[in-house]
Amino acid sequence: MSNLEVIKKKLMLRKEELENDLSTLYRERVTQDTVQDPADQALASALEDIKISLHNTRLDEYKMILKALEMINDGTYGICIVCNKPISEKRLMLFPNSARCLLCQENMEEDQNN
Ligand SMILES: [Zn+2]
Repeated sequence: MSNLEVIKKKLMLRKEELENDLSTLYRERVTQDTVQDPADQALASALEDIKISLHNTRLDEYKMILKALEMINDGTYGICIVCNKPISEKRLMLFPNSARCLLCQENMEEDQNN
């Protein structure tokens, strides 16, 4: 199996995990409408906030994985979206859905910290 196939397999597995998580989170949100007590309601809405942010984080990752799988199929996977240079296979094995090379990732993180 080539490295790309290994990466693709990792992405597919993670995609399945995320699909399960997302549908669980979604189901829990739908069934929570029956709470009556105000204290329970406050707690429920706090939990709801956590779930929504969890849901969004998962959803973001899910979208990145879909994008990565799309790029594998297109043959454009593994190219940095910033500098157009190939991303090292070592990095892709560790972070299969990375769209930037290490250098551009570091630059971006530095910008965010400033
Ligand atoms: Zn780059």
